[in-house]
Amino acid sequence: MAEKISPGMQQYLDIKADYPDAFLLFRMGDFYELFYEDAVNAAQILELSLTSRNKNAENPIPMAGVPYHSADHYIEQLVSLGHKVAVAEQVEDPKTAVGIVKRAVTQVITPGTAVDVGQTTDNNFLVALDKGDEKYALAYMDLSTGEFKATQLSDFSTTLSEISSLKAREIVVGYALKADDRQIFEKQMNLMVSEQFDFEDIHSSLSRLENQVASKLLAYVKRTQLRDLSHLQEVEHYEIKDFLQMDFATKSSLELTTNKREGKKHGTLYWLLDATKTAMGTRLLRSWLERPLISSSEITKRADIVQLFLDNFFERADLIEALKGVYDLERLASRVSFGKVLPVDYLQLENSLSNIPGIKNVLLAMKNSALEPLISQLDEIPELIRLIHNAIDESAQRVITEGGVIKTGYNEQLDKYREALANGTSWIAELEAKEKEKTGISTLRIDFNRKDGYYFHVTQSQLASVPEYFYRKATLKNSERFGSKELAEIEEIMLEAREKSSILEYDLFAQVRTETEQYISRLQKVAKAIASIDCLQSLATIAEKYQYVRPVFTQERQVNIVNGRHPVVESVLGAQEYVPNDIKLPEETAIQLITGPNMSGKSTYMRQFAMIVIMAQIGSFVPAELAELPVFDAIFTRIGASDNLISGESTFMVEMMEANHAIQHATAHSLIIFDELGRGTATYDGMALAQAIIEYIHDNIHAKTLFATHYHELTDLSGSLEGLENVHVATLEKGGDVTFLHKIAEGPADKSYGIHVAKIAGLPARLLERADIILQKLENKPVVRQASGEEKEQLSLFPVEDNHQEIIERLREINLDNMTAREALNFLWDLRDDL
Ligand code: ATP
Repeated sequence: MAEKISPGMQQYLDIKADYPDAFLLFRMGDFYELFYEDAVNAAQILELSLTSRNKNAENPIPMAGVPYHSADHYIEQLVSLGHKVAVAEQVEDPKTAVGIVKRAVTQVITPGTAVDVGQTTDNNFLVALDKGDEKYALAYMDLSTGEFKATQLSDFSTTLSEISSLKAREIVVGYALKADDRQIFEKQMNLMVSEQFDFEDIHSSLSRLENQVASKLLAYVKRTQLRDLSHLQEVEHYEIKDFLQMDFATKSSLELTTNKREGKKHGTLYWLLDATKTAMGTRLLRSWLERPLISSSEITKRADIVQLFLDNFFERADLIEALKGVYDLERLASRVSFGKVLPVDYLQLENSLSNIPGIKNVLLAMKNSALEPLISQLDEIPELIRLIHNAIDESAQRVITEGGVIKTGYNEQLDKYREALANGTSWIAELEAKEKEKTGISTLRIDFNRKDGYYFHVTQSQLASVPEYFYRKATLKNSERFGSKELAEIEEIMLEAREKSSILEYDLFAQVRTETEQYISRLQKVAKAIASIDCLQSLATIAEKYQYVRPVFTQERQVNIVNGRHPVVESVLGAQEYVPNDIKLPEETAIQLITGPNMSGKSTYMRQFAMIVIMAQIGSFVPAELAELPVFDAIFTRIGASDNLISGESTFMVEMMEANHAIQHATAHSLIIFDELGRGTATYDGMALAQAIIEYIHDNIHAKTLFATHYHELTDLSGSLEGLENVHVATLEKGGDVTFLHKIAEGPADKSYGIHVAKIAGLPARLLERADIILQKLENKPVVRQASGEEKEQLSLFPVEDNHQEIIERLREINLDNMTAREALNFLWDLRDDL
């Protein structure tokens, strides 16, 4: 027989049916309860105790609960593990409800829509993707700051790279996803895939497909948030080609914003350049690094201000002090919109806004027209300051319900209640003194608690002196509680004042919030200006700290960097230890082929160049004594081993895919960095491919290219490729000891020193001696390689003994037809002797 379902359970099941993929937190009194499978799973994940609803039934319903006041913590835990959570609240007053209290889902929290989780200096982007006519449109939004952008992308791999760069945790897909692609999103990229097909067109100037994806994203957010979203900014169009292009692999191998070891900020360029003082500035700096500029006039605008901040040391110090007082305006604005704003948030807002005039004055004092656009955006919103100043008490706490939030003088009625409360307190003190004297009970006192209200406290020993106009309220072990008519009168006034004042205070606070809503977009505008100012002062501070210079952009395609350094390696090693290097690539030189021992600094040299380019193009100064360089349109890299184990691609496959990506997309204005390309396959395959790739770039692309290799044979290419130049990392060899100088010098390297590195690594001496012998044998082999030209010979993979080749040649050349038998026999004897 089917068990009867209670009306409460039926309500639960009805709501759950709409949210099958989410944990449903069902509000019951002071708890959120979970049932059935949700309860079993949540109990395990959150370490809750698992109970059941109707223990004696045949099939008890599993149940687990979390107290409502700590629910945020549990929700955050579930969401951070990639789950969705739907919160069903009681939506009518239980006291007045007829039958079961009505409940409804008031919010769905998903990894991409969670606000107030993780580091406040990180964005949490929710991405939406749509497809049409072989094109993709992508929109992204940070719900906690209101940022909302959209773009169109031509292929899937660029799309994946953009999603990875945004570090999204959830993707809203607006088209029927192929199983393979879903696999990539879910398994490889660890994204929660959500779907949204229906939408209402939003009004925008975007392309049709972009508008569609942005509309779907908004529809999804509305569907899950079910709350005010007035802080969301208008969707803004962007194009990845308007910025220095770098795919995700490039950004991650250069460790721009996250390190390779743990995916954290430490040790990255972002970490090094970050001397920002506000959360908005920190977030903006990261997005500058993710998208350096390509317009030299835009770059110059930033660099001009960095220069100005650098030159005005004292003003910068004042600026930094003022910035320290500015809280996260973007997030405060979104809290206002969500209705999640707390009393302290207002104090932070007021404090932040009151620092704006100071910031403005410092900028004005520098008297420079470059600052005008920023100054004009610095709106201190005096109306809002006034509102907060008048309404919110300076000592207000986090909670709204405990009173003391609204300032005295703001609302007449509230003041009256407060006066009544204050008067009541003194009336009570007077009554206490009067009754003490009248009754002669020396220990008589008036107390209050929720259950008994106000009462006279009389100890056991004094009971005899209690007058007849006292009536008993409660009896305790050693004392009794009494009331009196007079006390009851005061009590009534006070309780009413207390209750009404707290309701009124709550209402007034809500009014302040509603009034604040009109300032949200102004707050966001100031936030943007503050973020830029903060980033620019950060770049100036770092430029000063590490003695960077302002780069000069050339129209010609020539690079002249004098004493350049790798900013992060230098900061870790110390300026004394770091060996600076010039990077010189005249207009006609496209490719620099870098040879040198392992561990000598080839990678560091190449990365140093990429770092300088990126820094220059975000408007920063650069680690060098002089830096003249063109504006690059893209950076392509193939550095280090990055197996893509999840997708089952081998190191070599990934290597070739990245090389292909560079070759397909690079232009003459791009920078290509290839570190030991081709080493993932058999030596001669690798070398042949490396050479062919170099030739291809040289002849067809002309991109500035740094190519580090262990194939010494490739250095001969300088003979046939005009635009290729050899450099090497110098070493010092003295009495069998080798020192790596980390210094780049002209020409190819003569030796590889691999065995030397192995020695440093501590391999056994006998093994090293043996390696030396093998090496000598190998090195004596004649080189059969043609740098360029028609015939490119296939090499034998087996080492040839010293004179075998010569003997083979002699055999090949001999004309047997013209030989006598004796001559032939002598020839054979000779050959054998020579062997
Ligand atoms: P491999 O061929 O084995 O990949 P590599 O030639 O690319 O090696 P790097 O990884 O660039 O060598 O450098 C090895 C180490 O040498 C670095 O970790 C760094 O500590 C040091 N180094 C590199 N360049 C410099 C420099 N210019 N000044 C001081 N130390 C440096």
